Amino acid sequence: MLPELKGLVDLQELDKVIRGIAQEMEKLPEFLETETARLQEMKAEYAAAAQELEDLKSQRRATEGDIAELEESIKKSRQRLMEIKSNIEYRAMLKEIAYKEDQRDKTETRLLEGLELLEAKTKALAALDQEILEQQAILAQEDEKIKAQLKELKKELAGLEKKRGVLRKVVPSQLLKRYEFIRERRNGTAIAAVREGVCLGCNMNILPQQFIDLQKGEEILQCPHCQRMLYWLDEMAEEAVN
Ligand SMILES: [Zn+2]
Repeated sequence: MLPELKGLVDLQELDKVIRGIAQEMEKLPEFLETETARLQEMKAEYAAAAQELEDLKSQRRATEGDIAELEESIKKSRQRLMEIKSNIEYRAMLKEIAYKEDQRDKTETRLLEGLELLEAKTKALAALDQEILEQQAILAQEDEKIKAQLKELKKELAGLEKKRGVLRKVVPSQLLKRYEFIRERRNGTAIAAVREGVCLGCNMNILPQQFIDLQKGEEILQCPHCQRMLYWLDEMAEEAVN
């Protein structure tokens, strides 16, 4: 194989590894982003629940006020009862007291129901608070992990880039340009092997004369279908390796 073609094959191998690492680095923060969004949702949920709790508390105070007012009113009516002389008025006042007592009892029932709800909501809020703390801990841990992973990958990438620089020096600049040009248009693969007359880049047959020329290994050929630069995958050599 021509040394510059061999250089390109090695370069392509390396470029593929570099590309894979770059993609991995891009994907790493995705989990963190999803979990951060989840935390924001939880915080919004918490704020809404806390507001609801505040509303319930002021409702409770209002109900307690209503009960106190009714009690006061009942007390006054009872006092007035002592001063009433007329039978009709007396009975009317008794009726009024009975009505107010009924109102008070109903309001007390409402208060108790409200207190139960308040208790349940308080517990739910505390649970949500705990969940938020846990989520924050997960995020902090994940953030650390990702930072460490990114650092590792960056280091690996720097080493590979260095190696890439050395390899690129072996290949003539015109050929490098062609390599980059095809690579950009062929999803990262500019060099393809040919096995039994078939380009493994596009799985189509190259011309019979091309295959003969390719085996001579004197020039760099391109696939007539996908334009990738070709090298011959010598079956004999392959078998020897295996
Ligand atoms: Zn091809």
